Amino acid sequence: MVRESAQVVVVGAGPVGLTVALRLGLANISCVVLEQEAALPEDLRASTFHPPTLDMLSEYGLSQPLIEEGLICPSWQIRMHDTGERAVFDLSVIENDTTHPFRLQCEQFRLSRLLHERIKSLPSVEVRLGVTLTGLEQDDDGVHAIWKSASGEGRIDAKLLIGADGARSTVRKLCEFGFEGKTYPETTILATTTFPFEDHMEGLSNVNYVWTEGGTFSLLRLKSLWRCSLYQEESETLEQALEPASIERKLQKIVPSDTPYQKLQWRPYRVHMRIVDDYRRGRVVLAGDAAHINSPSGGMGMNGGVHDAFSLTDEIKQVFAGGDLTLLDRYTRRRRPVALNEVLAQADRNRSRMQERDPAKRREIFNDLQTMLADREAARTYLLRASMITGLRQAAAVD
Ligand SMILES: Cc1cc2nc3c(=O)[nH]c(=O)nc-3n(C[C@H](O)[C@H](O)[C@H](O)COP(=O)(O)OP(=O)(O)OC[C@H]3O[C@@H](n4cnc5c(N)ncnc54)[C@H](O)[C@@H]3O)c2cc1C
Repeated sequence: MVRESAQVVVVGAGPVGLTVALRLGLANISCVVLEQEAALPEDLRASTFHPPTLDMLSEYGLSQPLIEEGLICPSWQIRMHDTGERAVFDLSVIENDTTHPFRLQCEQFRLSRLLHERIKSLPSVEVRLGVTLTGLEQDDDGVHAIWKSASGEGRIDAKLLIGADGARSTVRKLCEFGFEGKTYPETTILATTTFPFEDHMEGLSNVNYVWTEGGTFSLLRLKSLWRCSLYQEESETLEQALEPASIERKLQKIVPSDTPYQKLQWRPYRVHMRIVDDYRRGRVVLAGDAAHINSPSGGMGMNGGVHDAFSLTDEIKQVFAGGDLTLLDRYTRRRRPVALNEVLAQADRNRSRMQERDPAKRREIFNDLQTMLADREAARTYLLRASMITGLRQAAAVD
């Protein structure tokens, strides 16, 4: 068994693990990133970057290339499909609170790629693809990560181990963190198409959450395609809902088309709301989806994970500058309440709002949103929260 050492082991080369690695590498803290996949994952995941995430990434020259690969979204909307009425959330009301007063529509793998490229120039960081963390132990001296790959197995002795290994986190399971919460009943089917919805639905934004008779869908635009969130119908099995004919029927209900939709990709996913009780167990700390998961409604999971990575690395730098391990508890104190009260709670409200079926209740919600949006200061307060700025400000105020 190969035996090596590093100051930090990061498990997972998603956007969170790679952000941790970049910030540690720039601080000359030696770091090995273990990623079980042979290549960085490029599956259909996050597509929305919020303003403060772009503000943070711009410190490393990463926002501009993301903007070039994505679509700027100056406003987003909640819409009634039948009438075309829309509540428009205009991000210019927060123009004094961020240097990026817009949502950016861009696939999360583009951030991972950019981070990986930057990391390659840092001598203190090594990203190992095709290497799976299978075990860990910790004692007073350090934490010992056991890994396996196609070519063998080994052990890395480190001072800290960061579990950024996603929703099914092995690190979380090995350290027996509780992961309380719930799983929502519905299955969402995310489908991508090149169909130009913008030519058929008046006043569409690049991000649209839509109520339709008896249901809901969302339309999120990327540079060359639209992402549509559709739902399995009660009369369908999941297998039936994933048939191209079922996806076609649901897309045709949004905008009828004489020619079949060009469907590029589709995947089902279930949505959960869960969080660990503490982000640290000794020398092991969790970040991103490993620590908390939420409905993608509002686009906050990856953004919140990147914010975790910034907060955690601030504390790690102090630990390696001679500080005590308990400094890492400030990361939990700062980030856990934000995940719970801002990310999970807002995502839960966003999901419930769009799952509302009662037309009278929908109308009441819609009217309330319109009243709020007509008041610039109320709209600013709402959008500071929805854009995750309020949560970051709350975290910064925690000692
Ligand atoms: C359909 C969908 C849409 C979404 N939209 C948005 C959005 O618009 N905005 C937003 O902010 N969020 C969104 N999210 C959430 C976002 O995708 C996640 O929050 C984000 O991927 C979390 O990043 P992460 O780095 O914590 O975990 P992941 O991206 O899951 O990365 C974890 C990595 O760890 C690796 N790994 C796992 N176990 C091991 C092991 N034992 N050893 C080595 N490696 C391991 C995995 O292979 C993976 O590469 C969406 C999610 C879904 C499903």
